[in-house]
Amino acid sequence: MTASPQQVIAMAKENKVKVVDIRFMDFPGIWQHFSVPLSELDESNFEDGYGFDGSSIRGWQPINASDMLVIPDPSTAKMDPFYADPTLVLIGNIVDPITREPYTRDPRNIAQKAEAFLKSTGIGDTAFIGPEAEFFIFDNVQFESTKNGAFYEVDSIEGTWNTGRNEGGRNLGYKPRHKEGYFPVPPTDKFQDLRSEMMLTLEKLGIDVECQHHEVATAGQSEIDMRFKPLVEMGDQLVWFKYVLKNVAYRNGHTVTFMPKPLFEDNGTGMHTHISIWKDNQPLFAGDKYAGVSQEALWGIGGILKHCKALCAITNPTTNSYKRLVPGFEAPVNLAYSSRNRSAAIRIPMYSSSPKAKRIEFRTPDPSCNGYLAFSAILMAVIDGIENKIEPGEPLDKDIYSLPPEELANVPSAPGSLDEALEALAQDNEFLLKGDVFTKDVIEKWIAYKTANEVNPVKLRPHPHEF
Ligand code: GLU
Ligand code: MG
Ligand code: MG
Repeated sequence: MTASPQQVIAMAKENKVKVVDIRFMDFPGIWQHFSVPLSELDESNFEDGYGFDGSSIRGWQPINASDMLVIPDPSTAKMDPFYADPTLVLIGNIVDPITREPYTRDPRNIAQKAEAFLKSTGIGDTAFIGPEAEFFIFDNVQFESTKNGAFYEVDSIEGTWNTGRNEGGRNLGYKPRHKEGYFPVPPTDKFQDLRSEMMLTLEKLGIDVECQHHEVATAGQSEIDMRFKPLVEMGDQLVWFKYVLKNVAYRNGHTVTFMPKPLFEDNGTGMHTHISIWKDNQPLFAGDKYAGVSQEALWGIGGILKHCKALCAITNPTTNSYKRLVPGFEAPVNLAYSSRNRSAAIRIPMYSSSPKAKRIEFRTPDPSCNGYLAFSAILMAVIDGIENKIEPGEPLDKDIYSLPPEELANVPSAPGSLDEALEALAQDNEFLLKGDVFTKDVIEKWIAYKTANEVNPVKLRPHPHEF
């Protein structure tokens, strides 16, 4: 995946590019962009970058130090599949124009440091990440809100179960019944063509897809799985993934949302994240312990379980995230591990007996997270587990949702709210600071940003149900 600036410029000429779109990730996790004509791209731009106003990006610079640079990374060049004019997209790294130092609040920079830190420990040389990002497909009218943003309508969901509300005289045949949307063929599954268009667009961009399918929730919940990739590369791919899905849906009159729990009493949207570490081309997580994993994998699990509450502030970073983490909807609530068990926070998938396929599936994360930050934080917890030989305790191979309270008494549970997770992060962040991967400033800013912009505004508004 390495490419030189010369190769990128040659690629631009070959594709008759007229526009170059420069992109980077903001602090909470939304892709940002601006464009230059092709005449403004030459080799020097890959060193000198492009200037922009860093004070207008959420969570970044104060107004009196707003000038920032974005330096395009030539290895990220892709042709945009949607724009009218042939457009080359380059993802960039953020740099301070005075010191020329990489910007510590740039999520991609944090992910690059996490990869470098893994190497520096000698534990492994590559961390592979495979996220299973689920999503809902709604009609475009779904998110019309009242002027004060205090209430939203959910009546007009395409394919929603038979509530009898707002049907508008449409044919109710092949309407999936509540919780029966998982896997029936069309016409019950209304989104096969849309998901295939998403999948094929991703493939055209060089993003390997393993599978697309309808998910468990009734109303068009779906999943498209990408093949695992090294951490930073997967961080880049996850932003492309969200961009492609949202734009394909939009062009077809639909809306895709990665919101973790849009519908009361139906399954939420998770982003189970698979992680494995390799050293000298050998899988470090395959071994002869429980479920065919190695001692290192068990310590890695120990690290995730130990830091799970703090991790949630980064892997489940929205107030809505915690409406998903409740019993009964295949979302994990209890911080336990198991093979094959979908009610545990960590599952060891048993589909393949190949050592190369041995990995940990951390099921708590959801796709409202910033992938660069979430993958980095998970890797840092795994490294901490391995470095400190943190034992994960006994596996829990039972259906945790139906365990009697006395058996559950010693199994810790995920935080109940974003404030609780942020509080846990404030107490437990040393493991993230190693190798300067996350800095103190990043942790403090994250907590302050989330509290002021998300926790408090939700807390202060009367909820529709309270009426
Ligand atoms: N949607 C479920 C969740 O919230 C997961 C379903 C599955 O097993 O893929 O995590
Ligand atoms: Mg799924
Ligand atoms: Mg899964």
